[in-house]
Amino acid sequence: MEKIRRGAPEQTSFDFTPVRRPTAAQPLDRPPALDAQAMRRALQRRLPGKEIHLTITQNRTRVLSYRRVAEGYHVRLHQIFLHGDSQLIDLISQYIVTNNEQAGRALDRFINEHREHIVSRQRALRLDTDGEVYDLQAVFDDLNMRYFAGKLGALRITWSRDGGRRRRRSIRLGVYEEGAKLIRIHPALDQDFVPYQVLASIVFHEMLHAVVIPDRKNGRRHVHNKQFRKLEAFFPHHKESENWISKHLDLLLSYRGSRK
Ligand SMILES: [Zn+2]
Repeated sequence: MEKIRRGAPEQTSFDFTPVRRPTAAQPLDRPPALDAQAMRRALQRRLPGKEIHLTITQNRTRVLSYRRVAEGYHVRLHQIFLHGDSQLIDLISQYIVTNNEQAGRALDRFINEHREHIVSRQRALRLDTDGEVYDLQAVFDDLNMRYFAGKLGALRITWSRDGGRRRRRSIRLGVYEEGAKLIRIHPALDQDFVPYQVLASIVFHEMLHAVVIPDRKNGRRHVHNKQFRKLEAFFPHHKESENWISKHLDLLLSYRGSRK
């Protein structure tokens, strides 16, 4: 089980990473045993004197998280937990109060059994890697083999959709979404005049975000820390790409692509 602390020190979350190949789906043909209200009341009964604020989510990576507040707990649960029985609710409440390891392992088992229903939305995400000029998957695979010993195969990559034709003053050429393990690259880089190594340097940068653990300073995440900058400089065309981008920024900003 992974417990990752982020944000306020009281925030604890239960992150889910599909590791093994999915087995056959457990059929969930019955409607959930509980609705959100009933789940909230059931948790409340097990945590006397505590006020429970419950949000039911479809978040694929963070299936269970909670935050202590003065009057009780803010709890976020994946909707899959609504299919659980009273024993499962016991486990959830134990986990919330004591961060109990045994409860955590039992919850892990429940999550694994229902893995298929948690990851299925992930399948629905359409990845658009085949650009007008560049095949992003090929760029990614090459970098993965060359610099990461092929270890980043679980990441996914896609061209992002252009936000419209408005004039822009800044452009974010790449984004790494940690929860979804997804890299999005701006389609302004999918143009003839953009050198391959410039695109590769942006993809490399986003891949590093999956590897480097952010520093914490005054409760803020510092992602481009010293280690990050050091590793970034490993990419042989790093400096040259930065220069190219600043020289051609106006051209990139004026991109009016028609990606759907
Ligand atoms: Zn970055």
